[in-house]
Formats: sequence, structure tokens, C-alpha cells
Amino acid sequence: NLGSKFQGIFKKVRGHGKLTEDNIKAALKEVRLSLLEADVNYRVVKDFVNKIKEKAVGENTLSGINPGQQFIKIVNDELTELLGGTNARLTKAHRGPTIIMLAGLQGAGKTTFAAKLAKYLKKNGEKPFLVGADIYRPAAMKQLQVLGDQIGVPVYYEEGSKDAVNICETGVKKARAEEATYIILDTAGRLHIDENLMEELNQIRKKVRPQEILLVVDAMIGQDAVNLASSFNETLNIDGVVLTKLDGDTRGGSALSIKAVVGKPIKFIGVGEKLEDIELFHPERLVSRILGMGDVVSLVEKAQGAIDEDEARLLEEKLRKQEFDLEDFLKQLQNIKKLGPIGNILKMLPGVGDLGDLAPAEKEMKKTEAIIQSMTVEERRKPKIINSSRKKRIARGSATQVHDINKMLKQFEQMKSMMKMFGGGKGMPKMGKGFK
Ligand code: GDP
Ligand code: MG
Repeated sequence: NLGSKFQGIFKKVRGHGKLTEDNIKAALKEVRLSLLEADVNYRVVKDFVNKIKEKAVGENTLSGINPGQQFIKIVNDELTELLGGTNARLTKAHRGPTIIMLAGLQGAGKTTFAAKLAKYLKKNGEKPFLVGADIYRPAAMKQLQVLGDQIGVPVYYEEGSKDAVNICETGVKKARAEEATYIILDTAGRLHIDENLMEELNQIRKKVRPQEILLVVDAMIGQDAVNLASSFNETLNIDGVVLTKLDGDTRGGSALSIKAVVGKPIKFIGVGEKLEDIELFHPERLVSRILGMGDVVSLVEKAQGAIDEDEARLLEEKLRKQEFDLEDFLKQLQNIKKLGPIGNILKMLPGVGDLGDLAPAEKEMKKTEAIIQSMTVEERRKPKIINSSRKKRIARGSATQVHDINKMLKQFEQMKSMMKMFGGGKGMPKMGKGFK
């Protein structure tokens, strides 16, 4: 029934109040736990929670949202900001190819990411070139060659060579000769940070002068990520981080710590073993994941964006005076549409399970919208004047049948009388403060 679907919107009455230390206490605890559970560094959590508390206390609460939810939204925004606001872009050289050097521990996902990035760049019209410089693991260069073949990207490596610096220099020359636009250097890793590895990477950096050094970090290593990123950054002055294996259970809090402690942005994430499992880093998505409450956040955002407060007040007024007409009805339909598919809206509410197929309800809404749009303003304001010849015209205009018009008008009347009941409070529960 269409009418009941509107109740959620009408329920968004304006509650007044401020966030107080008291009503944010529980939420604060939840955030602290979420952050620690997600492997965010303890000190980072402590600083952050204090900052949030300062910021949140005294904020006005929004309509239709409880203080806890609003608090989460504040936390969400601050975390997103901490992670670097909008996503950081890959550098591009002004002239000639852009050289990207990958660094990281063994097994972090460097070779996989090299191929993922090459595929991604190729898809974006670039001409990538891969250089395999892992001289320690016997199969490492072959692994890169196999991946390069899969995506049709040239790979340079020297079988049996013991000189990674030389491989990179020669590789870059070859790539330039082939007019590559991006050169990706896949380097060796160790199980732990060690002097020799750092020295070798540093030599490559000095000789090849990459525009971009990306540290590839396995999201599953948790707290260690901060120390790891710090050491690599000290030696190499990295430009950014790639966080791999975010497809697993890990919540990726290490990313947050890296950004907070090392100050370098996360540029890409790896979300699977396949070569298309690469995503540009979107701080807001990771934050939702860390907080584990992304749905609450988007609900708050949508409520903020889609429902204009003045419009809501006007609507209340009209409902009270029984002046709600088809034009208002149309506006409400359009507001609901702004919120997205009905299923998504309902799914965001805690405790709502499987709703079955909602496609018919949405189709119905579209039809209703089309019908009202085919009416004249006068007809919308005074539906009573819609006689059979008008109905025929409206049906033609909205590509519907006369019986659809009749059905819609009947539903509208039912809805109006239902609202009258709620508004009048004759033994029925009131819908909230706004309906007084
Ligand atoms: P490298 O030693 O740093 O070059 O690491 P590799 O690229 O060889 O990857 C090590 C392992 O991690 C391989 O089994 C990859 O398939 C796997 N791997 C890499 N990136 C991801 C990712 O984003 N998600 C998952 N699930 N596995 C990944
Ligand atoms: Mg490798």
C-alpha cells in the first residue's frame, strides 16, 4: 500500500535538542571500541575521541535522527577528514612517462598490484609498462610476466640477474623507447624490514627518480602497519600507500593510523586476488567500514540532503488544515525518489529484514508520478474536477489507463483520510511532535 510507504517520510518530524555529554556517552564508547577493534593505533584513537567529544558537545540535533546517530555522523565526517578528505590522485609526469615504484614487505601484494594498476591504467587509455626487479624470489619475475601477458602489457626483466638497480634503469630505457606513459617498477620485499632491502630500494630511487613511490601494505597486518610505514617513509619518502587485501574480514583501521601518524595518503586499495579487484581509495567508504555503521551515516546524510526543513513544515501545516493536494503528493513522491530505491531506504533502518521484491511498489510510484505530471495545476489542486474526459486525457499523457487514474485517485483519498485520523488523534497514536 502506497500510503504506508509515506509514513516514514512524514515521521521525520523535527525534534529539538542538543548533543550533550550524557547522550553521546554511549556512542563515544561504541566509536572507541570500533576503532580499536579495527586496529587503529591506540594513541590515534585517544586523540581522536577527545577531539570528537570537544566538537560534538553542544551541537544541535537534526530532525528525525536520534542524537546517537547524529554523533556517528560527526565522527564519520571527522574520520573522513583525517583520512585525507577526497581521494588522492596518482601523479602524472608533465612530460614523458610517469615512473611508479612499488615497495613493501614480501607477500604484501606488490606484484599483484603492479598488474592491477597496469590494467587499470590501460583501461584509462594509458600505455603502461611493467618492470620486474625482484631478484630474490626465483619465480617473482615470471609471475609478473604471466600477469603482463594476461592483460597485454609489456614486461621487462632479466632472468638470473642479481642487480635490481640495473634492471630498473634498463627497463625504464626500454619503456621510454616504446613510448610508455606509465612505468611500474615491481621490487623485492623481505619478511621484515631490513637494511639491505632499504638500501637497494634507495638506490633504485636515486637512479631512476620515480615520480611516485607507493608503499604496498597488507591490511591484515594491523598495528604493525604504522611502524612499517614509518620506516619505509624515513628511507624512501613515500608518496602514498596502497592497502591490499581489504576484501577479507579486516576493517582496515591501519590505514587510518598510517595517515594520522605518517601523514601520507592512501591512494588505492586491493579488494581481491583478481586483476580487476582494484579501487581508487575513497576515505568515506573505509570510514564506514571501520565504524561498521555506514548505513546509519548514509541515512543521516540522505535525510539531511533530501528533506528540506521548510518544505516539511509547510507540509505539516497543510496536513493539519486538510489542504494536502496532489501537488504536495507529487512533491513527496519526488522526495522519496531522491532517497533512492525504496528497498535501500528500508534496508538502512536497523531491524528491517528481507522485504521481498519491492520492484512493483517502485513501478507503482513511477506510474503515480507520471499520472500527476500529466495533470494541470488546477486538477492537482482540486482533484474533484477530474471527470471522465479529463481522465482520458491524463491517461493518454501518462501512458496509463483510465482505471489506473481511478485507482490512484482512490488511493490518494484513502491516504488523506488516514492522515486525518493520525492528525486528529481520535484514539490513534500521534505521529510525533510535529503533528500537534
Ligand atoms: P608481493 O610479494 O608483495 O609481490 O605479493 P604478491 O603480489 O605476490 O601477492 C601475495 C599474495 O597475496 C598472492 O597470493 C595474491 O594473490 C594475494 N593478494 C594480493 N592482493 C590481494 C588482495 O587485494 N586481496 C586478496 N584477497 N589477496 C591479494
Ligand atoms: Mg612480488
